[in-house]
Amino acid sequence: MPELPEVETIVNGLHAEFKGKRLEKIEVSDPTLLRNTSEEEMGKRIIGSDLKRVTRRGKYIVLKFSDEDFVAIHLRMSGRLLALDPKDSAEHERISFYFADHNKKITMDNTRRLGTLDLLKTLDDEPLDSLGLEPFADEYTWENFNEIFFTTRPVKVLLLDQNRITGLGNIYASEILFRAGLDPTKPGEEVSEEEKKRLFTLIPRVLTEAINNKGTTLNDYQDSSGESGSFQDFLRVYGKEGGPCPECGAEIVRIEQGGRSTFLCPNCQDWDDD
Ligand SMILES: [Zn+2]
Repeated sequence: MPELPEVETIVNGLHAEFKGKRLEKIEVSDPTLLRNTSEEEMGKRIIGSDLKRVTRRGKYIVLKFSDEDFVAIHLRMSGRLLALDPKDSAEHERISFYFADHNKKITMDNTRRLGTLDLLKTLDDEPLDSLGLEPFADEYTWENFNEIFFTTRPVKVLLLDQNRITGLGNIYASEILFRAGLDPTKPGEEVSEEEKKRLFTLIPRVLTEAINNKGTTLNDYQDSSGESGSFQDFLRVYGKEGGPCPECGAEIVRIEQGGRSTFLCPNCQDWDDD
């Protein structure tokens, strides 16, 4: 699933390509991806408007057409948002936005039909309203960060909870906890001040490194121009079960937490299985 760096890379590509272009037509081949809106409502509200800005909130890609019209797209698993020649078709084309006098369209290409599209009046509408702390926003302060730890749930699980902190998924949560030398199973409320400070610094740092590498491509992630990311070359533990820890050489272990894989070094992260 695309995480914050992959979504940010898609957003940057789309903003550069489509900012200021006038929306001419929307083609919906799969209406099941539309939530709380219809093709007809979208047509009435946004066709004929200029795309003002492409931004991101958590893992949502947000197309702003006016101060009261925002399209929020979530790609879920194996979804892509591509800038294509209007004459070309993506393999699993679900929804496409065509622009006047422009040689590209925005196409939602979703193999597994799990993506979603919402049309919102404000950025505080559902589903964006429940999202937690944004790692690159002004609200990302030490005081606010501290609050996400008031839980008995394991620190890895709380880092994935989009209502506490947004943007992290399995890959970056595993990498950040490894760099922090922190046991992913430690309950949130037992994480020390020192460990929290490390996480507070490492979260934006690792995400920035990944954005600079245009994200991580392990399976099918591509940016809006169909390019792969390169941060997979810099992963230290994610997907490296059985291999040596880059710090100490101990064998990297994969555990399951909440049905998701966590990769860790038992030695560097002071973890044992009882
Ligand atoms: Zn190690």
